[in-house]
Amino acid sequence: MNIPKFIPNWIAGVEKASVNSQSFNKLNPADGKTLFQVARSGAEDVNLAVKSCLSAQPQWAAVPPVKRGLILHDIVRTMIDKKEEIAHFVHMETGKSMNDALGEVGGAIECGLFYASEGQRLYGRTTTSGVPNKFASTIRQPVGIAGLIIAANTPIANVAWKVFPALICGNAAILKAAEDTPATAWIFGKIAHEAGLPSRVLNIIQGYGEEAGAPLVAHEDVGVISFTGSTEVGRKIQHTAGKRLAKVSLELGGKNPLIVCDDANLENAAKWILLSAFSNAGQRCASGSRIIIFDSIYEQFVNMLVDKTKELKVGNTNQDDLGPVINEKQLNNMLNAIKKATEYGGNILIGGKRLSDDKHRGGFYLEPTLIDNIDSHAEISQCELFGPIANLYKVNDYQEALDLANDSPYGLTGCIHTRSFDRANHFIQHLQAGVAVVNAGTFGSEPHMPFGGSGYSGNGTREPGTEALDIYSDLKDVYVNINPNEL
Ligand code: NAD
Repeated sequence: MNIPKFIPNWIAGVEKASVNSQSFNKLNPADGKTLFQVARSGAEDVNLAVKSCLSAQPQWAAVPPVKRGLILHDIVRTMIDKKEEIAHFVHMETGKSMNDALGEVGGAIECGLFYASEGQRLYGRTTTSGVPNKFASTIRQPVGIAGLIIAANTPIANVAWKVFPALICGNAAILKAAEDTPATAWIFGKIAHEAGLPSRVLNIIQGYGEEAGAPLVAHEDVGVISFTGSTEVGRKIQHTAGKRLAKVSLELGGKNPLIVCDDANLENAAKWILLSAFSNAGQRCASGSRIIIFDSIYEQFVNMLVDKTKELKVGNTNQDDLGPVINEKQLNNMLNAIKKATEYGGNILIGGKRLSDDKHRGGFYLEPTLIDNIDSHAEISQCELFGPIANLYKVNDYQEALDLANDSPYGLTGCIHTRSFDRANHFIQHLQAGVAVVNAGTFGSEPHMPFGGSGYSGNGTREPGTEALDIYSDLKDVYVNINPNEL
């Protein structure tokens, strides 16, 4: 497959370098070598994208939603035809295995199918009125221009998660790609173009957050900002967009607890902990990074976890279980956090180091890491690391486990392993998070389900599912009064 040497923006259906002609290097996380150059865009590029959207959006909104859905179906069909090609880009720029990349493309396709079909619904509501001869209902209208800013961890899923709902609602969109995964966004733009999406409806901007993302958030003509990324950046975005009262949806980080009770199926719990903590190299907002284990099974279970972790293979092939993290800066953040934790008494049960043998040389690989003996209020317990690191905590009973699970500024997902129906049910009711799971992992983002969190994990919005339609459309109340004397 030909790897482009330069990844440009997509503006008004045309591939464009940034106005200032600047670019940056994108490195391969698997070996640290340069993959290609990327357009380093700024406010002028955002202005061009906004112009393109302004000229296209009224016509796009005038296309009946069912027909918009058919066009989105054509994009999905093209994605299915080019599944391998998209996966190759994901594999190449994230370092995850081809199999994992293909799985991610499959998820993006499912998301696209869901929203394409929403064109046949886009329900408003017909309801009652307190006044005689008055009929009340709601209809959905596009917001206008949607600014979509995404993280790099699951690049094609993140694109699909935002672009499809924004477009089905009749908005024109500007996608600010993650600087670490520009090529996946670029190939999606190409596919949308080839599939027949009107060319100015979707614009894709490459570049760094402060330079290309911030002007998008600040732009007066961008009516809704949907952001997936860190809590720190989410706060800045809320602040800027709040000043001009734009609609904002924030999908932020997590420090997700997974409880293992004394009555759990330990084999099943161990399997899910490894997947929750280490799949995608722990670069999931929903990753299970706080493992809370009952005292009575602690030693036995931790030995089992350590043995199973030893068997994990790190690398970017289909034989490997987890790949590199996305860039060297993230890797160094994690190494520093681990060092700091050990200075405060943390005990590394396994892992903790960068891999730099022949297979991993130059790549951004961290050994899958388990740490215990850490205070629940230590920095490593409270801050998201976004890598293959999980902390283990010992508790006496269920109530202590639940209290610890809730003792976090984040509230995205959580899981319990137990055979007790009562415990499971109590946990579902009392976990402070947007997703509660029983006897599996800290996963939970099927395309038709509302995902999101509380506290540092978001601002209360939910995407995807039909709930995302509330973000990308505005409801209008409609009252029709019939004058009986004029019948
Ligand atoms: P990040 O916040 O550094 O960057 C995310 C995106 O925001 C990038 O495109 C970046 O260029 C842009 N950005 C950075 N500064 C900006 C600014 N000032 N204005 C506008 N845009 C700006 O996050 P990251 O390290 O790339 O991604 C990891 C984070 O994403 C983790 O916290 C993870 O939990 C979170 N995440 C959340 C979800 C979810 O659904 N809740 C899903 C995936 C990832």
